[in-house]
Amino acid sequence: MPLQIYIAGQFYDKENAKISVYDHGLLYGDGVFEGMRSYSGKVFRMKEHMDRLYESAKAICLNIPISKEQMEADVNKTLQINSLKDAYIRLMVTRGSGSLGLDPNRTSNPQVIIIADSITLYPEEHYLKGLKIITASTIRNHPAALSPRIKSLNYLNNIMAKIEGLQAGCIEALMLNIQGEVAECTGDNIFIMKNGELLTPPKDAGILDGITRNAILDLARSHGIPAMERTLTRHDLFVADECFLTGSAAEVIPVVSIDGRPIADGEVGTTTKKLMSAFKTMVHQ
Ligand code: PMP
Repeated sequence: MPLQIYIAGQFYDKENAKISVYDHGLLYGDGVFEGMRSYSGKVFRMKEHMDRLYESAKAICLNIPISKEQMEADVNKTLQINSLKDAYIRLMVTRGSGSLGLDPNRTSNPQVIIIADSITLYPEEHYLKGLKIITASTIRNHPAALSPRIKSLNYLNNIMAKIEGLQAGCIEALMLNIQGEVAECTGDNIFIMKNGELLTPPKDAGILDGITRNAILDLARSHGIPAMERTLTRHDLFVADECFLTGSAAEVIPVVSIDGRPIADGEVGTTTKKLMSAFKTMVHQ
């Protein structure tokens, strides 16, 4: 059976899963999304993803046509119908189709789309040897322009930074905020270890409130590693003892070099390794 895609309560074969070209999700990037993982058939931190999705929608004045409970049930149904246990789930809610022109009042029927599929974001060797990243000159969206807390269907800000990274031979890139402080990477949050402390930029640095980020903060504390939010600059990264990124798709991935400068001795750090393995255990619990 071909992969089944959920659109507005119905399932369609992958090649027949289509929405209108008049959907404002396509016309203007007007909509919100989530990227989730299921492990052994259970969605990791489903509630947190639902809360973030509905908050993103609220922030853009988009009414999701179904309840959180229904959404959770539909996500699970999409996994079941495709017999998927370990999967990546992409959930989108578009503004719906309407007439040309920005006015969201001229749209109807926000579309809920659920795709459950497999994903390999980064090649396995990078989990073993670590990523080399650069700082992009494209800064993260100013929160007064579009809050980075909103996981919107318009990812051009991050895509421009990703292109800079790729042009420099790096598959991930660091983004700073308007103050020149470290924000996050194009699709992942960032952490460093310094003098036995685990540090990550605060939410008001203009970042996505990452669910993996929060899981790692919990995990570190439960392993006796002091973990806190702290404003970070590139200097802090250059002199860090260890560095890694987190995200639902990426999970936990080490960083060994930033802008051509090795982090510590350029090897994957011991705490990073410890947290990578603790995270693996956590998601399978
Ligand atoms: N920052 C950005 C910009 C992201 O798109 C993502 C998700 N890919 C993350 C951070 C990580 O968030 P999460 O752990 O919730 O997947």
